[in-house]
Amino acid sequence: MHRVTLIPGDGVGPEVIDCARRVIEATRVSIEWEVKEAGEKVLESKGTPIPGDVLESIKRNKVALKGPITTPIGTGFRSVNVAIRKALDLYVNLRPAKAFHGVKTPFPDVDLVIIRENTEDLYAGIEFEQGSKSMEKLRQFMKEEAIDLSDDAACSFKIISWEGSTRIARFAFEYAIRHRRKRVTAVHKANIMKATDGLFLKAVRTIANEFPDIQFEDRIVDNMCMQLVQKPEAYDVLVLPNLYGDIVSDLCAGLVGGLGLAPSANLGERAAVFEPVHGSAPKYAGQNKVNPMAAILSGALLLRHLGEEKLAEAVEKAVGDVLVEGKMATYDVKSTSEESLSVSSTQVADEIIDRLKDLLAVSR
Ligand code: NAD
Repeated sequence: MHRVTLIPGDGVGPEVIDCARRVIEATRVSIEWEVKEAGEKVLESKGTPIPGDVLESIKRNKVALKGPITTPIGTGFRSVNVAIRKALDLYVNLRPAKAFHGVKTPFPDVDLVIIRENTEDLYAGIEFEQGSKSMEKLRQFMKEEAIDLSDDAACSFKIISWEGSTRIARFAFEYAIRHRRKRVTAVHKANIMKATDGLFLKAVRTIANEFPDIQFEDRIVDNMCMQLVQKPEAYDVLVLPNLYGDIVSDLCAGLVGGLGLAPSANLGERAAVFEPVHGSAPKYAGQNKVNPMAAILSGALLLRHLGEEKLAEAVEKAVGDVLVEGKMATYDVKSTSEESLSVSSTQVADEIIDRLKDLLAVSR
C-alpha cells in the first residue's frame, strides 16, 4: 500500500486533481490518500496558506500529488509552491515536453526534458522592498563598497551555489544515462552574470567530465529561446538555473500543445511532489472546463516514482490514445482530428479511464 499526500490546491486545482486521482485509482494501484488543504482557502481559516500539517504529511509519506496554488502578484503571502520546494529541499524540477500524436504542432518530433534547479537563484526569496529599513541598510553597505543603489530602488538577490549547481547537473546527467538520452545542454547567461551564471556553467562543465558518454554543450538563454522556437527537435535534455528553467519550460510546453498537457515532478532526496506545470487558472475555476491531462500525466510520473512503471506507461498510453483519436478534448487542445469535440474535464478523464481499463484488461 502506497500512502500519498493529496493537495487539491486553488482555482482549477481541485477539479484537475480529482480527475488525476480517479485515473490513478482506475489503475487499481493500492494507494491511500492523505488529503491536505493548502492555499487561499486555508489562509482565511488558519491564517497561513501552508499549515504545518501539510509539510508534515509530505515528509511522512514522502510523495504528494499537488494542485496549483494561487500566489497574489506583487503583495501578500510568498509562493506556497516555492515554500514547499525549499522546506523539503526538492531541488529538481523535472518537466518533460513531448509532442503527442493528434495534437497540432509545427514540431511533431519534439521530445525534450527540462531539468530546472528548484531552490536557488532569484527564487531564494531574498528581497529588499523599496523604502524598507533593510533596503536602506543594504544601500549603506553597498555605498561602502562604492556601489551606488539609488534611493528609489528595490533589490533581489540571485543565489547560485556550487553545491546547488553540481547536484542539479549530476541529476541531469544521471537522468540522461537512465533514460538513454544522448545530450545535455546547460542554459545560462554567463556572458553577463559572470559570478552567478558563470559558477553554474563551471559546475555543469565539471560534472559533464564525469559522463563522457553523454554529449555536453551550453547555450546562452536568449539564443536558446530562439533556437527552441526554430528547431526544438535538435535538443534533448536541458539543465537550467531556477528562473530560466521556469520560463523556458513554459515555452517548451507551448511548443507541444500548451500548459494543459505539461506535467512535472519536484524531486529531492527525502520527498517528491508531482503537479501540473500550470497555475490555478482562476477564471476557469469551478467550470469543469480546463484540461486535466497535465495533472493526469503528473499522476503517471508519480506512479513511475512509486515503482509502478507498467501502470505509469498505461496511463501515458491512455492519454496518448485519447489525443490521437481526437474526439474528446478540452477547449485548449488543437486537435488534428476534424471530428474533435470540446468536452468537459470530467468527460476527458472518463474517456482516459475507459481506455486505461481496456489497456489493463489486455495486459492482465
Ligand atoms: P495559469 O497557468 O493559471 O494560466 C495561464 C494560461 O493557461 C491561462 O490562459 C489559463 O487559462 C491556461 N491554463 C492553465 N491551465 C490550464 C489547463 N489545465 N487547461 C487549459 N488551459 C489552462 O498561470 P497564471 O494565470 O500566470 O497564474 C494563475 C495563478 O496560479 C497565479 O496565482 C500563479 O502564481 C499560480 N501558479 C501556481 C503554480 C503552481 O502552483 N505550481 C504554477 C504557476 C502559476
